Amino acid sequence: NEKLASRLQSHEDRERLFTREEIDQLFSEVVSYYIDPEKCQACMTCAKRCPADAIDGGKNRIHVIDQDKCIKCGTCFEACPPRF
Ligand code: SF4
Ligand code: SF4
Repeated sequence: NEKLASRLQSHEDRERLFTREEIDQLFSEVVSYYIDPEKCQACMTCAKRCPADAIDGGKNRIHVIDQDKCIKCGTCFEACPPRF
């Protein structure tokens, strides 16, 4: 607040800014999941667990997440074996 007050002219200027809670909320909403093609071993674990059928892949094929279908649940992130 002190930093902002030194830079902004009026109270209205400050009212237009986001609070820290709002920024956290915005960031949590824009999180995206991607599979690193360099690391994916095509084990198919994530695709089997994805509740939105958003992961395209198969045996010996690097898996890819369809961002339009992905509901950002994080299941694939949890399911991917740590060694991969
Ligand atoms: S975050 Fe959830 S919905 Fe998106 S690809 Fe991973 S498992 Fe599927
Ligand atoms: S679980 Fe990990 S290694 Fe296995 S197919 Fe999915 S992204 Fe690739």
